[in-house]
Amino acid sequence: MNAAKVLDDLKRRFPNEPEYHQAVEEVLSTIEEEYNKHPEFDKANLIDRLCIPDRVYQFRVTWVDDKGNVQTNMGYRVQHNNAIGPYKGGLRFHSSVNLGILKFLAFEQVFKNSLTTLPMGGGKGGSDFHPRGKSAAEVMRFTQSFMLELWRHIGPDIDVPAGDIGVGGREIGFMYGMYKKLTREFTGTLTGKGLEYGGSLIRPEATGYGTLYFLMEMLKTKGTDLKGKVCAISGSGNVAQYAAEKVLELGGKVVTLSDSDGYIYDPDGIDREKLDYIMELKNLYRGRIREYAEQYACKYVEGAKPWGEKCDVALPCATQNELNGDHAKQLLENGCIAVAEGANMPSTPEAIKAFQEAKILYAPGKAANAGGVAVSGLEMTQNSYRLSWSREEVDAKLKSIMQNIHQACVQYGTEEDGYVNYVKGANVAGFMKVAKAMMAQGIV
Ligand code: NDP
Repeated sequence: MNAAKVLDDLKRRFPNEPEYHQAVEEVLSTIEEEYNKHPEFDKANLIDRLCIPDRVYQFRVTWVDDKGNVQTNMGYRVQHNNAIGPYKGGLRFHSSVNLGILKFLAFEQVFKNSLTTLPMGGGKGGSDFHPRGKSAAEVMRFTQSFMLELWRHIGPDIDVPAGDIGVGGREIGFMYGMYKKLTREFTGTLTGKGLEYGGSLIRPEATGYGTLYFLMEMLKTKGTDLKGKVCAISGSGNVAQYAAEKVLELGGKVVTLSDSDGYIYDPDGIDREKLDYIMELKNLYRGRIREYAEQYACKYVEGAKPWGEKCDVALPCATQNELNGDHAKQLLENGCIAVAEGANMPSTPEAIKAFQEAKILYAPGKAANAGGVAVSGLEMTQNSYRLSWSREEVDAKLKSIMQNIHQACVQYGTEEDGYVNYVKGANVAGFMKVAKAMMAQGIV
């Protein structure tokens, strides 16, 4: 494989999809050496078949808003690769959603799911529908209409969607209700369901908790832990909230959170009571992070990211490309020793380069945030068995999966000087399993 040529071809065939190109480039640059040790891979043109999704569904979603106006949005499902299990990956509802973004997420998901060791292929979907400012009735009408198209493409052994940005328990519930009505089946086709109808304990917490379990493993390699460490977190949604909760449990201090409007800086630390306020503000009232600064009289910075604030650990948990080269420089100058990504691809290539050149601990999302999909996989297992595991059982399995992913990264990513390149480790480990499965299944 010539990685540069593969990437040029993809850019020519699929122009105007920069995030997809960015995700592919990162993976190719790290697996090229390993790939080229296997001439049989090239003979089977494995790389094109791995980079290009199996199929993409695109559809119009029509719904009626509260004023009686007819609205249209686009809906998508990218089924990227099912070599090791049914397609699996979240649905994102956000105004920025387009095919290129979903292709990057689906591509990443293939490697992430492989790393979990559970039998799950990779997919992703969503819509440019923006839930912010919409009433609950509007969200329900939209999600029902979305499912009217999506249902025929998914199923417990075909494709199992979950949540992502803009899709939480409420949206999954509405979609599951419509799916059930259309198919007349009660199966585990969506994950992130409510506990009353097949959801798994720890699923809401899983991505944030998993990121912290991974971070703890990284810190352990340096003989340290989180006690007394100052953490900067971005986002204030599902992943950020439970990352913050686990930081508190592990003895760290959270000083920032953000949303798409700006960030708050609380030098005293966001304690349990303040975090409860944020959870209520965000999950119940769907308010803005600015309101926290008003409540607790601390700094709020409009239109900026939190990476200029001094911290030991940075946990980007909002969205892609939210931490650039300049931010990375600021973090390093301020003494940051570890970055673990709760979000997908939050660091730009320049930022990753800066972290790795400085040889600090840096974990890419596909390793550090794999806990979410891992517990989704456990939810699928429980649904198939028609039973549910206790909180302690699921949490123990999550912790063990994150430790195994860390171990795989160390195995495949340790460089000659002992530095662990977690990007390389995650990509090579995730890739090899999928590649072997694809080879065994012939040219399809
Ligand atoms: P939520 O919708 O619950 O929260 C997203 C948070 O990020 C909100 O605070 C939101 O602010 C902020 N945000 C979203 N878009 C932007 C943007 N363009 N610029 C700045 N801030 C933004 O989503 P999740 O917490 O579920 O997801 C966060 C990240 O984690 C995503 O990258 C997702 O792909 C990834 N992830 C999620 C998993 C899960 O299980 N949920 C699993 C693995 C990864 P606002 O409220 O203003 O929109």
